[in-house]
Parts: sequence; C-alpha cells; structure tokens
Amino acid sequence: MSQLNDTTRTVTHLIDLSGIREFRTIDQCDQTVTLGAAVTYTSLLSVKNSQCAPPLLRKIAGWITGGPQIRNQGTIGGSACYANPASDIPTGLLALEARMVCVSAERGVRIVDIDKFFKGAFLTTLADDELLTKIDVPVDRPGDVWGYAKLKTAESSWPVAVAAARLRKAASGAWLAHVTIGASTVVPTHVGTFEFSNDNDVGRETLAHIQECVNSLPAGSFWTDELVSDSYRKRVASSAAFKAILDAFAERGN
Ligand SMILES: Cc1cc2nc3c(=O)[nH]c(=O)nc-3n(C[C@H](O)[C@H](O)[C@H](O)COP(=O)(O)OP(=O)(O)OC[C@H]3O[C@@H](n4cnc5c(N)ncnc54)[C@H](O)[C@@H]3O)c2cc1C
Repeated sequence: MSQLNDTTRTVTHLIDLSGIREFRTIDQCDQTVTLGAAVTYTSLLSVKNSQCAPPLLRKIAGWITGGPQIRNQGTIGGSACYANPASDIPTGLLALEARMVCVSAERGVRIVDIDKFFKGAFLTTLADDELLTKIDVPVDRPGDVWGYAKLKTAESSWPVAVAAARLRKAASGAWLAHVTIGASTVVPTHVGTFEFSNDNDVGRETLAHIQECVNSLPAGSFWTDELVSDSYRKRVASSAAFKAILDAFAERGN
C-alpha cells in the first residue's frame, strides 16, 4: 500500500485480504502458535493471554515506527511477504524458527521453513500464484526470554539494524544467547550463540566476539538504501546484537 501511495508501483487489480476471517486469527495448539497472515501488530498487542502471542513478536510490534495507523493496518504476513531488508518482522520470524504456510490453488499447500523463505531484498520464495495463509511459530520453552534491539536514524525512520537474542539456560547452568540480526543485512541472518555465566559477563569481549562473527559474513551480506550504506550497517550490526543480549538479560530480571 505504501508503494501505491508514493506511486513507485501501479496495479490494475487490488485484492484486499483483510475480510478473510481465518487470515486474522491467532490460535494455539500444543506447541505451536498459528498466526493468520493478516494478523496486525495491534491484534498481536491486544491478545489478552500473552502466552498465545509470541513474546518476541509482541515486543517487536510495540516498536513498529509510524504510530497506531501503521500498527492497525500493517500485518505480520504482509511485512514478511514484502521482505524489505530494512524492517523488523523478518528477523523476528527467523529468530523464532517460524514455518510459513503457502498455498497455491493448483498445487495446494507448501510449508516453507523460514530460513528458506527470504531469497533477497524484496524477494521471497512465494510463486506468483501463491498466497501466504498462515505462520506457525513454535512456543517458547519454559524459561526462554527474548531481547530485541532496533537502531534507527530518526524516530520516524525504518530500522537500519535490528537484532533478536533468545536467552536459554543450558544444562550446565550457563546462559546461551542465540542471536539473529537483520535490517543491516539483505536477509535476516543468525550470527551465533554466545555463552555467559551471568549478565556481568556481557562486556567488551562479547562485543569483540560478535564483531568477529559479523565480519565473517560473506561479501554482499549487508544492505544499502537511501537511509545508510552497507558499510555503515556492517559497523552497527554488532552494536544491535550486543544491545539485544543486554535487553534479554534485563527482561530476565523483570
Ligand atoms: C510509515 C511507515 C512506517 C513503517 N515502519 C516500520 C517499521 O518500523 N518496521 C517494520 O518492520 N515495518 C515498518 N513499516 C512496514 C509496515 O509495518 C507493514 O508491515 C508493511 O508496509 C507491509 O504492509 P501490509 O501488511 O499492509 O502489507 P501490504 O502492503 O498489503 O503487502 C506487502 C506486499 O506483500 C504482498 N502480500 C501481502 N500479504 C500477502 C499474503 N498473505 N500472501 C502473499 N503476498 C502477500 C503484497 O502483495 C505486497 O506485495 C512501516 C510502514 C510505513 C508506511
């Protein structure tokens, strides 16, 4: 809709999916939360029982730029299908290891693991005749906590770097922070799992370790647009990852 509005895209037919009830529901069955493709940020934030809405996605939804108009209208599925590198939802879905339910009238249902869904900037694996109908998100394990960080050039800007960190206690008692970055990269990317005995361990060495992992990503991994260059994004990606780990430890303390 934003492309139609600024005339970078024209279409002859426009199909509004928002009237399909199944596209707007959130269900939980056993260990999976299923989000209809047209669930909005506002509906995620309005779920009474927060167990039924993935905590990471709720956190991201609360931080979407653009105010209530965007949160009421923008959808989780629309953001995933748009695949704008400079956005939040793709990183959240990769961090959560979501599964994308894609449907074609001719070929039926195809379930795509999220790490195979994003093919490049503004490009997904969806075929021209396919719709994303649902997104399956595994329920967090008991004790998991999520941190998220978003760097923007201005309050009204789309993100230039985001990161999600899942903090999970290992059998050894150590904390494992599994970190995923995006907005800085063309497609969301796992950067690694970092081990800590407690939050006091998160310091300069952690940042250096994250920088090593970020610097080892292949050439062409980082995104350039009118906001900032790929080299800038590469520099700030590690800071976003570091902040996400700190946010996860802060969340654990709450
Ligand atoms: C001012 C502004 C600020 C914003 N700030 C942020 C931000 O901070 N972070 C962020 O992540 N995003 C941000 N967004 C993006 C916004 O959150 C929306 O998610 C995004 O614009 C997609 O909108 P939509 O859900 O209405 O999808 P649409 O615009 O309707 O669709 C996007 C694309 O996906 C296709 N599509 C949609 N649904 C499906 C489906 N079910 N199956 C197949 N194809 C489909 C459409 O054909 C279209 O090509 C912002 C947008 C605006 C306008």
